[in-house]
Amino acid sequence: MSETTPKIKKPRGRARLLEGKCIACGARCESSCPVNCISMNEAGEPVVDAEKCIGCLKCVKVCPAQALEMAFTPEELKILEQLAAAGAAPQAEDDDPEAAAIARLQAQYRGVWVFVEQADGEVAKVSWELLGKGKELAAKLGVGLSAVVIGHKVEPLCHEAFHYGAEKAYLLDAPIYADYRTQSYLEAMCHLIEQHKPEVILMGATGMGRDLAGAVATRVGTGLTADCTGLDIDDKRNLMQTRPAFGGNIMATIMCDKYRPQMSTVRPHVMQMPEPLPTATGQIIKDSFTTPEDQVLVKVLEIIRDGDSKHKVDIGGAEFIVSGGRGMMGPENFGMLEELAKELNGVVGASRSAVDAGWLGHDRQVGQTGKTVRPKIYIACGISGAIQHLVGMQDADLIIAINRDKDAPIFEVAHYGIVGDLFQVVPVLTRKIRELKARGKKQ
Ligand code: FAD
Repeated sequence: MSETTPKIKKPRGRARLLEGKCIACGARCESSCPVNCISMNEAGEPVVDAEKCIGCLKCVKVCPAQALEMAFTPEELKILEQLAAAGAAPQAEDDDPEAAAIARLQAQYRGVWVFVEQADGEVAKVSWELLGKGKELAAKLGVGLSAVVIGHKVEPLCHEAFHYGAEKAYLLDAPIYADYRTQSYLEAMCHLIEQHKPEVILMGATGMGRDLAGAVATRVGTGLTADCTGLDIDDKRNLMQTRPAFGGNIMATIMCDKYRPQMSTVRPHVMQMPEPLPTATGQIIKDSFTTPEDQVLVKVLEIIRDGDSKHKVDIGGAEFIVSGGRGMMGPENFGMLEELAKELNGVVGASRSAVDAGWLGHDRQVGQTGKTVRPKIYIACGISGAIQHLVGMQDADLIIAINRDKDAPIFEVAHYGIVGDLFQVVPVLTRKIRELKARGKKQ
């Protein structure tokens, strides 16, 4: 027969106010309490309901005046003394039940998912870019990468997803999913999340992705970081989501360390497009979940395509971009940039100042509130290089900046900088390219 020593639970105590020390800071202790056992009296001091207190220490830690402490009964003090004498290591769970509950919750969630956005069976390229990033994240987490494909007659997209790195594809294929509607897609996503519990979900920061991600995060009660420009994993399996904050003046790294899944949206062209592997295969997991049509409140009666779209320029997908800023001085001078762009088979982009001035349409704007671009060559003409512009173009393979101010911040990201008057430099560049092309043709 073996004898076992019963485990002694470490007493946690109850929060207590130290008289005369509260500075009425504005109820920080009250808002930190996870069990709502603190209320404020008229003097702005905390009143602790000792019956409800779980001894989590949060109010003690948050108090700027050290006005709260943990109080123990004489019996509890005796146990603490015994434990200290025995040199017993405190149990993590005893010390912080909230942390233990979070760890238990997080352990249930595994895997990285990418929502494959499609319309009429055509996939938004950002989904493939996210599979490329998702693969990196999954490798760091030591888990699988899965695609979520929702639509009607969209099974071939699962195979495409395998080519871009997915190992599994969750497929919901039914007429109800033929057109995107928030409600039916939301129910479908939430059903899959409940069944399979992924730890990371990535979606494109497109009209559809932004709409769906927000609805899903709200329904499952988790965090969502929109428009991320960087994603990584920390040593506690948290997704480090970097994005511009405070009007783009700082880059913030945001974590969702208490809830799962962790959700991010990323704009097109921010992440690199992975090389497709046409021989790659994977497992398709079909799920027949649907919402009855009569319960979906929104009906799609007609889809009216954007009639102007053929006149709009897709700077997001362009390989060569010549962009103009306030230094262009007026719309009439953009013809000079058109000529250079034509020689390069490229398109003309713009800074927000140029767009706000009405010199070019918003579809040409590069930056935080415009498009993110990743061309082979980006030529910035008369653009100072504000951070809100840089976040939209700094991942171009090659950046050439023309500015008459040698201290312009654009030169910090430029591979080649030309300090000079753009009205002299741009025509010379265009002429030189024409000459080189003509020489190439002759040879
Ligand atoms: P300026 O900063 O005025 O720079 C003009 C440059 O032209 C100067 O460096 C000058 O030296 C140079 N120049 C003038 N004449 C000549 C010449 N003859 N030859 C050579 N160089 C010359 N901006 C964006 O671009 N995209 C965005 O998406 C965006 N989003 C924003 C979002 C928020 C929330 C905020 C607050 C701002 C945003 N902005 C954005 C605006 C941004 O902060 C800058 O104001 C803007 O990018 C400046 O545009 P610019 O470089 O064309 O103009």
